[in-house]
Amino acid sequence: MIGKIKFCTHCGHPVTLAIPRGDNRERHICERCDFIQYQNPKIVSGCIPCWGNKILLCKRAIEPRKGFWTVPAGYLEIGETIEQGARRETLEEACAVVESLDLYQIYNLPKIGQVYMIFKGRLKGPDGFGIGEESLDVKLVEETDIPWDKMAFKVIHSTLSRFVEERKQGEFSFRIDSTDYKW
Ligand SMILES: [Zn+2]
Repeated sequence: MIGKIKFCTHCGHPVTLAIPRGDNRERHICERCDFIQYQNPKIVSGCIPCWGNKILLCKRAIEPRKGFWTVPAGYLEIGETIEQGARRETLEEACAVVESLDLYQIYNLPKIGQVYMIFKGRLKGPDGFGIGEESLDVKLVEETDIPWDKMAFKVIHSTLSRFVEERKQGEFSFRIDSTDYKW
């Protein structure tokens, strides 16, 4: 998926969509300064924060999917590792600190140009969380209280279902999956 870009980020001149010489796909090119604006996938880093048999969930206060539930996750920032991104999102959205992060799931979403990297982590304590700025509510829930029909994102729904299933079996495994849709 190529997003709509109107102006050159370098000089402000309108851009045109064309295949640069030596390339094989369309790019936004500036005819004034020759700047080529490449668009590449974004990384979303997130975490399933756990305490015992409970999982920390956040109710989104922002679009997209405002009012629906998810785990802390968001776009990785420049200068961050994926672990740092997952910790930061957990702190921002759920005011929680997580320990012992393990990468649990990678989800490719090639059509919308995103790659989800989802860790599992242990909360520092059972009360160590709060409602972050981007959340309407944050709660530590048993598996039976997970609002499966009110989950914000398909990839999180799918990852969490596998997580609770594997926890019952007593063994977690890392996986890479792909899907076309986000919710
Ligand atoms: Zn330009």
